[in-house]
Amino acid sequence: VRCPVPRVIGEDVPVPVRGGGHVPYANLDHAASAPCLEAVHEAVTRALPYYSSVHRGAGHLSQLTTEAYEEARETVRSFVGAWRRSAVVFTRNTTDAMNLLAHVAPAGTTVVVFETEHHASLLPWRRSVRLPAPASAAEAVAAADRALRECPIGPRLLVVTAASNVTGELWPVEELARVARRNGARIAVDAAQLVPHRPIDITALGVDYVAFSGHKLYAPFGAGVLAGRADWLRAADPYLKGGGASASVGRTTRWTAAPEQRHEAGSPNVLGALALAAACEALSDARDTVAAHEEALLRRLRSGLAELPSVRELRLWGDDAPRVGIVSFTVDGWNAGDVARTLSEEYGIGVRDGRFCAHPFVRHLLDGNDSAVRAGLGLGTSEEHVDRLLHALAELTCTVARAAG
Ligand code: PMP
Repeated sequence: VRCPVPRVIGEDVPVPVRGGGHVPYANLDHAASAPCLEAVHEAVTRALPYYSSVHRGAGHLSQLTTEAYEEARETVRSFVGAWRRSAVVFTRNTTDAMNLLAHVAPAGTTVVVFETEHHASLLPWRRSVRLPAPASAAEAVAAADRALRECPIGPRLLVVTAASNVTGELWPVEELARVARRNGARIAVDAAQLVPHRPIDITALGVDYVAFSGHKLYAPFGAGVLAGRADWLRAADPYLKGGGASASVGRTTRWTAAPEQRHEAGSPNVLGALALAAACEALSDARDTVAAHEEALLRRLRSGLAELPSVRELRLWGDDAPRVGIVSFTVDGWNAGDVARTLSEEYGIGVRDGRFCAHPFVRHLLDGNDSAVRAGLGLGTSEEHVDRLLHALAELTCTVARAAG
């Protein structure tokens, strides 16, 4: 028996539209931040009355909260398929997780990264080799192989997104992991846009590190994850220095050996971690239904867009390349900002416009235009939302055609 599609809260919130009146919000901006799952709301509501200090409190509620926090870590560990001895560090978000990885990578590490990455995975590295956008998944693997082979002596790290936040296209993570291993390199995967849609098992894939954010996974803002091999995390200076990271402080400081505590100084975001873990559980229980729900909506959206002659979908690879529910596009004769504003003000539709914190990639995909519109589908999306977007775009493109005629 298939699980029902997990429900989000706040669906159908009425939003004002031009000319007076309200319509139920069509949230097509899941790729930026997803609405909260009911299961997450319940988990946080359950935790609110009893939460207390973690790790150093002797009181009963402190013990319960510490237990819940550490259980959340274990839930995340199994969600990403991390090995028992791997580290699972709670961070603020994916950006923070990638910066933590940059901090712990040994001095002299060369990072190989494609220019198609989100800035969170493109910018934190001290020394990087940037590869141009590959023309196919196979070319991505070949280019990574070449670049890793030519890296200077020293530690090497390949950083790659699992699912693009611009095109939704899935990257060949398993093959890239194989290439990394063959070249004695490690691989870190930015799974911010993958995990809301598809499962990941880093042990099965041969991936060394994975990073993602709770707020794209149907939990609130402020909690993310870096999970993976513990050795670099154990050897590096704490990312944040302070209580929790220090085992004993006198004239000199001895840092906590456990990689999690070492890099989570200060009081952690316990509710954020519990919320994120609740989302992991709810999604793990319903993977098939989540995928089926989104694939149907994605097909509906893409085939509708293909019928609008002035709408151009952004994609790096073939039309049939596997992808998650993210579609970016431009509308001939329209500035992306105006499209997004009109969709919001006249139709109650929320999308994102711009370059999606992936400037080199969007510049590569857009010929002349400097920004695009992005629709991000997810569990809060219905067929009506998709149809409303298609109807709105048909009306917009008609306006342009009429003006031109
Ligand atoms: N990587 C990808 C692929 C993303 O889509 C995003 C968010 N747009 C990030 C990293 C950064 O996530 P956060 O803002 O939560 O740090």
